[in-house]
Amino acid sequence: LFGYVGIEAVLDQMKIKTMKTGFEFNIMVVGQSGLGKSTMVNTLFKSKVSRKASQPSQEERIPKTVQLQSITHVIEEKGVKMKLTVTDTPGFGDQINNENCWDPIIKYINEQYERYLREEILITRKRKIPDTRVHGCVYFVPPTGHWLRPLDLEFMRRLSKIVNVVPVIAKADTLTLEERAEFKQRIQEDLKTHAISVYPQEDFDQDPDDRALNDRIREKIPFAVVGADQEHQVNGKRVLGRKTKWGIIEVENPAHCEFPLLRDLLIRSHLQDLKDITHNVHYESYRVRRLNESNR
Ligand code: GDP
Ligand code: MG
Repeated sequence: LFGYVGIEAVLDQMKIKTMKTGFEFNIMVVGQSGLGKSTMVNTLFKSKVSRKASQPSQEERIPKTVQLQSITHVIEEKGVKMKLTVTDTPGFGDQINNENCWDPIIKYINEQYERYLREEILITRKRKIPDTRVHGCVYFVPPTGHWLRPLDLEFMRRLSKIVNVVPVIAKADTLTLEERAEFKQRIQEDLKTHAISVYPQEDFDQDPDDRALNDRIREKIPFAVVGADQEHQVNGKRVLGRKTKWGIIEVENPAHCEFPLLRDLLIRSHLQDLKDITHNVHYESYRVRRLNESNR
């Protein structure tokens, strides 16, 4: 029995614990108005994430922050409850002067760190601190096919310092496949030139396996997504899609767009990693900053 730690039993315990407590996962959508953010929120909830739920997901609204709006669904799968909250933000970019348009969003993100911090420094802490911190921020890039606009660069630069930013090319159905590929490359170059580190950040790869996996994802970022909240009948099956004169763009069909890649990254393959980086990196730097301030 030497060296036997009963890892199976430990894993079982961890699983049971998660099943009992469930977990929270928070996403935010950001970008200029009209790029399909609100539609994407619905797409996420209507797509397989929640259709797979064994129970009709219960809907609840958490109090509105002045302008931002959060929608929470409790998704239950195999006995585990996931509280998925998506925060929709009002668009910006309509004004002639877009200066400081990021302020309300940055403020919201920091407020959630602050809330968590306040709970954490209490003498009697809750066993489980409610987590409203933004684990992933999906940034919508307009499908111009050119380069990133100074506004988007500046916004993402600021965001990437405090949160995991996942850029996407919005309304990708308005670009040809070649345009999508070229635009994607340009955006990647732009981000590199401006030293904007989007998720999954190279600095945080844990080991060579992790690096290899994330390298494959980094090649595909930003995902070219299409959103839809209507279902249509295609070959006898109901699919989520956009009906056009030329046919139906199926948002969950990987041959049509990269929404499935976005969903899988967020909700499946990298969910825990997004939470870990939020806690260990972004929240940590907020915490250090705040505690230094108050010690002065
Ligand atoms: P928001 O201002 O970013 O929240 O954008 P909305 O979700 O309100 O969408 C604005 C308009 O764009 C609506 O008419 C949507 O139907 C449309 N729209 C949303 N997503 C897409 C998309 O992926 N492709 C196209 N072509 N139109 C979209
Ligand atoms: Mg909207």
